[in-house]
Amino acid sequence: MPEPTATPATDTAATATPILTPVPTATLIPTVAPSPTPNTIVAAFAKFESGVTVKFEGEFAVISSNAVPNHSSPYFFKTDARYQQYNGTNPSYAQNPNVIYAQTLVFRIPLKPEKATASQPTPLGPIGISINGVPFFNEYAGTNRPLAFEINSFDQYNGHPQMFGMYHYHVEPLYLTAICGRDALLGYLLDGFPVYGPMEGGKLVTNADLDANHGHTHATAEYPGGIYHYHVTSEAPYINGVGFYGKTGSVGAR
Ligand SMILES: [Zn+2]
Ligand SMILES: [Zn+2]
Repeated sequence: MPEPTATPATDTAATATPILTPVPTATLIPTVAPSPTPNTIVAAFAKFESGVTVKFEGEFAVISSNAVPNHSSPYFFKTDARYQQYNGTNPSYAQNPNVIYAQTLVFRIPLKPEKATASQPTPLGPIGISINGVPFFNEYAGTNRPLAFEINSFDQYNGHPQMFGMYHYHVEPLYLTAICGRDALLGYLLDGFPVYGPMEGGKLVTNADLDANHGHTHATAEYPGGIYHYHVTSEAPYINGVGFYGKTGSVGAR
């Protein structure tokens, strides 16, 4: 969906280093319910934080989230305890006029992801969900409108809300990579393939290490048998390339 346009300026927000502020809601207790789902999958989905509900229904993980970040932001109302003035390093920061509002998102994500015969382009709006319940968006601000025009509205944790108050990440979620590590599992796209941070084996992953969908296949900590996975990189397209690698699940409102 379209988002208000921020002032065009240089892209420096994506690599900004935030100052971390503890937030009382940022607990790390998983909320995964007991189920017959295989242990490796349960373990991987246990990375989701409290505030995000994960249930297993048949072939799907059903993940419910209000999309409110578990970290502070200048996009909360100033009267909210989670409000924090911008303290990132982008001198061109230009806050957009939106404010964070709770959403009622439900993601149905395949538990056994499969390669699609033809890769589907990602839509505008949520394309996946991070482990703190904040949705991932693709590299576009609107139809055929590159992110460059709104990158300066990313807050100190690289997120911002769109016109309906849905907070989201188009690029590296700096709070999560600071807390969990830059090589950590950060979430899933709608096709059920996991998203990892920009580091791997002590090295920065670049677009050249990835295929056109922005991923590759090898063993990871959560999937020792090997799995296709995306990596967040510091250059466009950041999270996903030409589209989903796998057959997609769905996202809707509760
Ligand atoms: Zn956006
Ligand atoms: Zn990898």
